[in-house]
This record gives sequence, C-alpha cells and structure tokens, in this order.
Amino acid sequence: MENCGKRTIVSDDATGCSKRVAVIGAGVSGLAAAYKLKIHGLNVTVFEAKGKAGGKLQSVSQNGLVWDEGANTMTESEGDVTFLLDSLGLRDKQQFPLSQNKRYIARNGTPVLIPSNPIDLIKSNFLSTGSKLKMLLEPFLWKNNKLAKVSDKHESVGGFFERHFGKEVVDYLIDPFVAGTCGGDPDSLSMHHSFPELWNLEKRFGSVIVGAIRSKLSPKKEKKQGPPKSSVNKKRQRGSFSFLGGMQTLTDAICKDLKEDELRLNSRVLELSCSCSGDSAMDSWSIFSASPHKRQAEEESFDAVIMTAPLCDIKSMKISKRGNPFLLNFIPEVDYVPVSVVITTFKRENVKHPLEGFGVLVPSKEQKHGLKTLGTLFSSMMFPDRAPSNVYLYTTFVGGSRNRELAKASRTELKDIVTSDLKQLLGAEGEPTYVNHVYWSKAFPLYGHNYDSVLDAIDKMEKNLPGLFYAGNHKGGLSVGKALSSGCNAADLVISYLESMTTDTKNH
Ligand SMILES: Cc1cc2nc3c(=O)[nH]c(=O)nc-3n(C[C@H](O)[C@H](O)[C@H](O)COP(=O)(O)OP(=O)(O)OC[C@H]3O[C@@H](n4cnc5c(N)ncnc54)[C@H](O)[C@@H]3O)c2cc1C
Repeated sequence: MENCGKRTIVSDDATGCSKRVAVIGAGVSGLAAAYKLKIHGLNVTVFEAKGKAGGKLQSVSQNGLVWDEGANTMTESEGDVTFLLDSLGLRDKQQFPLSQNKRYIARNGTPVLIPSNPIDLIKSNFLSTGSKLKMLLEPFLWKNNKLAKVSDKHESVGGFFERHFGKEVVDYLIDPFVAGTCGGDPDSLSMHHSFPELWNLEKRFGSVIVGAIRSKLSPKKEKKQGPPKSSVNKKRQRGSFSFLGGMQTLTDAICKDLKEDELRLNSRVLELSCSCSGDSAMDSWSIFSASPHKRQAEEESFDAVIMTAPLCDIKSMKISKRGNPFLLNFIPEVDYVPVSVVITTFKRENVKHPLEGFGVLVPSKEQKHGLKTLGTLFSSMMFPDRAPSNVYLYTTFVGGSRNRELAKASRTELKDIVTSDLKQLLGAEGEPTYVNHVYWSKAFPLYGHNYDSVLDAIDKMEKNLPGLFYAGNHKGGLSVGKALSSGCNAADLVISYLESMTTDTKNH
C-alpha cells in the first residue's frame, strides 16, 4: 500500500494514491462517514447543498443565548458515538443536563412529574388503578406467546401498546413520547419500524415486560467484543447530553478535521453517473455539482459514493448507469413530518412556577385543555450557561403529524401559541423578551405503515448501483446516534468494497 502523505489502506495501483470517495450531505451521518473514511487514509470530498454543515444539527449563539434549532440532545447508546467522542476529543465539551431525570407530562392542563422507573410508576398516581393493574398483569396475560395475538408487521405503535398496556398508557405515555421524539402519533407510526427492539421482544417472549427483563439479565453480545465497560462509561451511555455551544459542536469538530477542499459547502449534487461495467475493478462514478458562484456544474470522478441526502432530495437527482438513465421512479413518496422549533425567553420574575428538569411533553388529549404545543424543553434549566441568569430560555416544538398546519404558522401566531401554553404550564406571564423560530417542513421521515417500500427502494438503489451506499436517518433510526452510526457503517462498507476492487485489479 502506498502512502500519499497519510495512512493509506486502499490505493489506486496506477497512481499509488488513495481511492476517492464522495459523500453527499454534511449532516451528522455524512460527516461521521467522512471522518471514518479519512482515518482509513481515503481521499474524501463532502458535498453539501447548504452554506453550512451539520444538517439537522444547527446551534445558534446570539445576545448571550445559545439554542439548538434542530436536535437538542443525543445519547451514547451506539458504539460509534463513543468512538467519535473519544477520537474527536469531545469529552471535555460534553454537557449533561441538570436534573435530567425530571421530565413532565401535561395532565388535565398541568405538568405532572413522570415517575422515572416502573416501580415508581406503579406507586404513583400518574396512571389509574386499572392501567397499573394491566401493567402488573401483562407478564401473566402474555406468558405464552402462542396464546396471545402477536403483532403483525403493519400494526401501529398505538395498537401494539394498547394490546399490552391499555389505552391510557398510549394516550399519556406513548403519544407524548413519540410526539416529542419524532413528531409522530401512535396511530400513524408502524411498530415494526419505530420500535424494532420491542417488536422483536414480543415475538420472542410474548410479554414485553418479561422480554425486557430477560434481555437485560442475559449477557450482552457486546461483552464478547471487549472488556466490560466501566461504571462511568455505563453512566455516560444512559443519559442524554449535548455539548458546550450546542449540538453543532459535534459536527463542527468533524468539519475542523476536513481540509477546505474536502468539504464543499454550497455544492448541490445534481447528477451522478456510474460507469459500472459489471466488472467491479472498472467501476467509477462522476458527480456533477452546482455552486452559486460557478456558472456550470462541475464534474469530478470518484471510486465510490456515500449518499446521505434525504430521499426526497435523491429523487430530484439525475442518475445514469453506463450512459443510460437510471430512473428513480421506484422511490416512493416519503411522508415527512413538519415541525416548528420556537425559542422564547422570559424574565425569571415573570415565570411563577418554573420547573427544574428536562422539559414537559403534551399528549394530544390535552388539546381539550387548550394546550397546542407538542412539548417544551427547559433549555436554560438543563444548561444554565445558555442564557443570562435573569432569564429562562425555552425551546418549544409545534406541529408534527398531530397538527401539520400549525407547524407552518407565522412567527407571531407561534409566539402566541407558545406563550399561552407556557402561561398555563409554568405560569409564564406577559410577553417573551425574545422570540425566534425555525420551520422544518421535513423535520422527520415518518416511519409509517408502508415504510417497507422506502427501505426496499434504498436496497434496490444500492444493489443496482455498485459503489453507492446509503446512510442517514431514513433507515435504521431517527436519532443523532443512529444517523451517526449509519454513516460509520456505510464507511466500513465502502472500505470493504474498495479493498475488494483493489484485490480484483491485482488479480486481473
Ligand atoms: C427539530 C428536530 C429536532 C430533533 N431532535 C433530536 C434530538 O433531540 N435527539 C436526536 O437524537 N435526534 C433529534 N432529531 C433527529 C436528528 O437530528 C436527525 O435524524 C439527524 O440529525 C439526521 O442526520 P442525517 O445526516 O441523516 O440527515 P441531515 O441532517 O438531514 O443531513 C442531510 C444533508 O444532506 C444535504 N443535502 C441534501 N440534498 C443534497 C444535495 N443534492 N447535494 C448535497 N447535499 C445535499 C442537506 O442539506 C443536509 O445537510 C431532531 C430533528 C429535528 C428536525
């Protein structure tokens, strides 16, 4: 293997230089992929349509306030997150929220603390006696999964949880949880796609509770891969966290590692052309990208491509294979959930019942009590350095599949909605001292009942276009951690693919 100024594992035999990989999209998945490819000595070019990197990770610092317009926190449940945080030296910048276990759900118009574990839930008055009884009996009712109806692939999240725990659990735990994590609602989301682990637990054990306990007790596969994790590590992996300066600190750290010509901002990929001879040693890609300051689309050649653009953007690209158009009409229309993120600050003295903790979620049933938002994060309670000490900073989510029209409302309307909800929930009086908002028309792809067709289309694209690999939140999970991990996974696939090409070339 040759070395062109850095460690090289896969190189072009003719020139001795690293193979070239294009990454389309500089969200967390694309940047994680680029980082991993670079570590392996590959030449990387990241194309980003917008003027800044980060995708759905966008942090803003203004007038002594720091807020996130997209994702606010993440977890370390994926091994790739641990790898990136360590190798980017981000441990010192990790910020854990104060009182992160204090989370609230609105009930009868007021915030109620959610019990933080199942025993506390049973002891509390959060659920009715009937629902608590149903939870306690679930392991017995579902003891024998041959007797119980097992979820079919098209069952909704609401249907699944109602069968196991009853309607109240769906209305007051599941509904606010899915609204707060993906803007969805229990009826529209597919259980199989949204909670694959729980769906599989039912298949194996019948009872979700028994399955959860048994899989917790059984030795984890990861243990085979290395020494047991320290208790500090375990603690780290459980909680949500952000970074000093917000979530964008993560993607900024990766960007710092990329040279100017490796990260092309304002470069929208319009067209891809694969020479795909069928003989993998000869496969190569041409990418045509447009920049506002260039008159003509620019063409560059690559050995492989990692595609992380959302499917709706991929659909608008032109792809050709061996000179013939490769039509993308097999990609279905993805249902995206719109969300507005509204930032407000209130003088502390004007908030009569401020709550310590993470935030409050609003079940859709609570609309009858006049609440219109999906939920609010107590941003400056979690991270006190995000606002001056005399104000509270709140991040409120509006819209989702529950109320798509409301997500599009004007800033004035959104301010009124948020002010009204925060008045009712926290006693915030008067007008906010600061208001800002961002409208995400396609905040999250909805993992709905027909999501199989989306995954099939991604598979078809990858199978028919050798050297093109998909990564991003349209497959395998919506969280920052899952998107990051999918980027790392795609990088591994590219590395294996290029290694196999190198071997093929040598054998020819
Ligand atoms: C409001 C909101 C709140 C969220 N909150 C959380 C949270 O608290 N915790 C959590 O874990 N997750 C959260 N998420 C989800 C998480 O942020 C995303 O799933 C994740 O960041 C997606 O990363 P990605 O790289 O897959 O896609 P994206 O971030 O969408 O990146 C794709 C990139 O591709 C670029 N692109 C598109 N077309 C082209 C083209 N033709 N050429 C070049 N570039 C192109 C786009 O501009 C974009 O930058 C939230 C999301 C939103 C919207």
